[in-house]
Amino acid sequence: MVSRDISTPSCALAIGAHPDDVEFGCGATLAKWASKGCKIYHLICTDGSKGSWDPDTDVASLIARRKEEQRRASRALGGSGEVIFLSWPDGELEAGLRQRWQICWWIRKIRPEVILGHDPWKRYRLHPDHRNAGFLFIDATVAARDPLFFPEQNMPPHRPSALLLFEADEPNHIEDVTGFEELKVAALLEHESQLETTMGIPVSNNNGSSSSENTFQDIQKKARDEFVTKIKGELASNGKVIGVRSGESFYLMDNIK
Ligand SMILES: [Zn+2]
Repeated sequence: MVSRDISTPSCALAIGAHPDDVEFGCGATLAKWASKGCKIYHLICTDGSKGSWDPDTDVASLIARRKEEQRRASRALGGSGEVIFLSWPDGELEAGLRQRWQICWWIRKIRPEVILGHDPWKRYRLHPDHRNAGFLFIDATVAARDPLFFPEQNMPPHRPSALLLFEADEPNHIEDVTGFEELKVAALLEHESQLETTMGIPVSNNNGSSSSENTFQDIQKKARDEFVTKIKGELASNGKVIGVRSGESFYLMDNIK
C-alpha cells in the first residue's frame, strides 16, 4: 500500500551527498513543486572531488566545476533557493556531530516544510557517503526540531511536516511526476563532468581522427539516448504503481515527533 502526492510545500530542502544525487533521487518531484511556487533549496554534503576516472584530474578545478553544474541543475529544475555546499571531502563524509550541527543550522535557517534525502537504511548500498548523508539528514532533523540541541546556534527550533527518503529500500509513497520527466533529464545532463562516470555517456573521442568523428558522435548520441530511456523507464515503472505515466518513489515519514 503506497500513498501518493503530499500537498505542495511552500519550501523544500533536498540534501544529497554529492552534486547530482538530488537530481537522480527527486529531481522530477522538485521540478513539479517548483512549478507550483515551492522554493527549492539544495544542500550538498561533499565537494565531489572523487568524481573522475582520470588520475591526473586537477581536483580544485573539478570541485569548482561540479559546484557550478549543481547550481545550473538546480535552476534547470526551477529551484530559486540557495545551493549550499558543506564541502566535506568526497568519499570521506562522516555522520558525526560536526556535520549534524551544520545541517541542523541550515534546517533552522531555511525552515523547510519538507526535507528530502538519501535513505540510510537502503540495504547493500556501496557508497559510504550516501549512507552517511542519509543518517545526517535524519539526525539533523531531530536536532533542528528540539530546542535543547545546539542551543549556541541561538535559532528557534524547526520541525518539518514530512521527510521524503529517496532511493528508498521499501518505498511507501509515490509522487506523480508526469510532465516533469524532461526537466529531470535536463537537470541531470547539467552535470557534464559526470556524463561518462555516472551516466555512461562518452565525452571525448580518444582516437582523434576526423574519419571516426561521425562514428564517435553516433556512439555518444546512442549512449545519451540509452541514458534518457533508462531514466524515463524508471519513472514509468514507479508511475505504474499508482496508475500514472511517471512517478518518483520515496519512503515518507510524516510523523516528525
Ligand atoms: Zn552520490
